[in-house]
Amino acid sequence: MAHYKDERTLVIIKPDGLQRSLVGEIIKRYEQLGLKLVGVKMVVPTEEHIEKHYTIDPEWRRITGEKTIKGYKDKGLTPPSEDPFEVTAKILRGLMKYMTSGPVIAMVWQGAHAIELVRKITGGTEPLKSDVGTIRGDYVLDSYQMSDSDGRSVRNLVHASGSKDEAEKEIKHWFSKEELINYRLIQEQILYDVNLDGLLE
Ligand code: ADP
Ligand code: MG
Repeated sequence: MAHYKDERTLVIIKPDGLQRSLVGEIIKRYEQLGLKLVGVKMVVPTEEHIEKHYTIDPEWRRITGEKTIKGYKDKGLTPPSEDPFEVTAKILRGLMKYMTSGPVIAMVWQGAHAIELVRKITGGTEPLKSDVGTIRGDYVLDSYQMSDSDGRSVRNLVHASGSKDEAEKEIKHWFSKEELINYRLIQEQILYDVNLDGLLE
């Protein structure tokens, strides 16, 4: 079985993250957590690539639709439709436009609990509701109400894989095996070494 420290997750700095000059700030946060960058590239994705990326998990359409409908109801608002699939179809069209509008930075980060921790410091999907201290909570101000009334995707700077299964499929979708580098990071000794017997001279 793979060790905890081998867990990998996909992060994409979306076009707005790059245009807002937040690349360094965003990378810094994952880096300071103790994660290791094992793959990185800048690309302008195609619509096909983005559609495949979001529909890689067959459940994503239903889950995203339900999550969005709940978001409306929690705020006492009426959702655009009661059918989660209809809601998601519209979101997907917006995403294809948003994510192909300019360069993005795709990265693979590795470390213990990488998937869950990256989601935690990235913050919830809607910036209006994302926690203070998270990337989406601290650096951007979008909401479902505003993105909806403008008929576009909510702009939240970053994508991060939501589960082990998603991470595995998304990493394969964005990176070839050769583009991911296996190497040792010196700080891993203080993070994972059991005996800590290599510090004192
Ligand atoms: P997350 O990126 O937090 O995993 P989802 O997988 O649910 O969120 O959705 C993917 C992306 O689609 C979001 O990051 C956001 O850019 C966009 N999006 C999701 N729900 C909505 C919505 N209700 N209205 C507009 N855009 C949305
Ligand atoms: Mg998601």
